[in-house]
Formats: sequence, structure tokens, C-alpha cells
Amino acid sequence: MKPGIRLHLVSTTMASTTSSCSYCGNPPESPETALQRCGGCKFESYCSTECQRRDWKSGHKQQCKIISLDKTAEATAAKCNGETVKGVRLTCTKEPGGFWEVDIPSNHSMFDGPLLEVPAILDVPLVIHRVGTQSNNRVDLDCQIATFLNITYRDGMAPPEWQSHVGSCLVARKDKKPLSSQHLEAVWMYIDRILDYFGEEGPREAQKLINREKFERWLENYKLAEASRGRTEWADVGSLYDL
Ligand SMILES: [Zn+2]
Ligand SMILES: [Zn+2]
Repeated sequence: MKPGIRLHLVSTTMASTTSSCSYCGNPPESPETALQRCGGCKFESYCSTECQRRDWKSGHKQQCKIISLDKTAEATAAKCNGETVKGVRLTCTKEPGGFWEVDIPSNHSMFDGPLLEVPAILDVPLVIHRVGTQSNNRVDLDCQIATFLNITYRDGMAPPEWQSHVGSCLVARKDKKPLSSQHLEAVWMYIDRILDYFGEEGPREAQKLINREKFERWLENYKLAEASRGRTEWADVGSLYDL
């Protein structure tokens, strides 16, 4: 069995090896029969429908979604002809502010980076970049929102390099559509809720929340609640999916 999904190390432009099954590792049954490629991502290949079915259940369902979203985002980004992309700077404890809406050069290398896993399963193609904040006091470099954005679907933990001393970060959409601070807050606060479930109910219950439909429904309530607390900017926040 695969140890859950971890896309951070996988480049979608790298062709999967076609000589062995992505699930069991066996070669095709005979030299004449080819392995079957996954129709969704066209990345993984299988020796049998049984292996495909098992891999789907053991994590490829989410991985496939991320790979497909990554390809779509790259195709959309390629049509972007603006010089800058609207994104958000997340500040670590050293700098004041929290969220700053910023213009990021559209040729920034961050747009070639991997998608954040949980946001991607929510159908939001986000990429993140550490700006390299320095401080002698390492506690100054904590950036809890960046840690939250980096949790994995499998266990709700961020990889070690995202757990502390992260420094300030830039966050943007890989499709280069504008990312508002409200939209990023929505993703962050929804992950905050998911983490409560990981802590209290366990991964299976938490993972049930990691889907777009539930996120959209939650966001409608969050918008109303924030607007009624006097945060008027929330009254007309639009969908993250219709930009
Ligand atoms: Zn197989
Ligand atoms: Zn697939």
C-alpha cells in the first residue's frame, strides 16, 4: 500500500514509468499488452482494473484530482498576459499585518511550484513561496497560516519544513487568476475547521470535509457571519470558482 498521498515531490511534467504498474509494481501481463493509463490524470498506469480500483481507494482519488487541477491551472495560466498577478503576502510574527494583497510578477518562479494539497482537493489551485525572512529570534519566523495551508490530506500534519521558522510567504493561484485576502482567509479558516476534526474525530471524519461542495456550503455561512459582525467587505465576496 502507498503511504497516502504526498504530491510535493511529484512533478506532473515527469512522465510516469510505463514499464510497471503504479499499484503493485508488476510489469504488464505479456509484452504485447500495455499497461492501462488512468483516464483522469493520464499519469499513473496499471496492470489491471483491480489494481486501478485499489490505488484509487488508497489515495489516487485525491492525487488524480490534484494532478488534473495542476494541468488545468497551468493551461489557464499560459493564457495570462498580465505582467502581474494579484496574490497575498502572509506575514510571519516578525512583521505586522497578517494578510497583505500584493502584485506578484507573472513570471515569478512560484507559479512553477506544486499545488498545496488540501486546497487543491477543495479545487482551489494555490501555490506558496517563502520570501526568506531572516531573524535572530527564530520564533519571529513562525507563520501559522502557511503551516495550515501545507497540511496533508492523510494526517492533517504539515511537512517538517513548514511547521516552524517559515518566515513570510507569498500565496497565489497557479492559474494566475486574482487571489483576494478574503478568499485566502476562507481557505485558511476552513482548514482550521478541518484540523479540529483531525484532532477530535480522526482522519476519516476530517477527510470527509475536504471536498468542494462542503467548503462552498460552509463559506456561504461564513460570509454571512462575518458580514453581520461588521466586516462589510465580506458582504459581496464572490465564489472562488467563478472568476
Ligand atoms: Zn498492478
Ligand atoms: Zn489518475
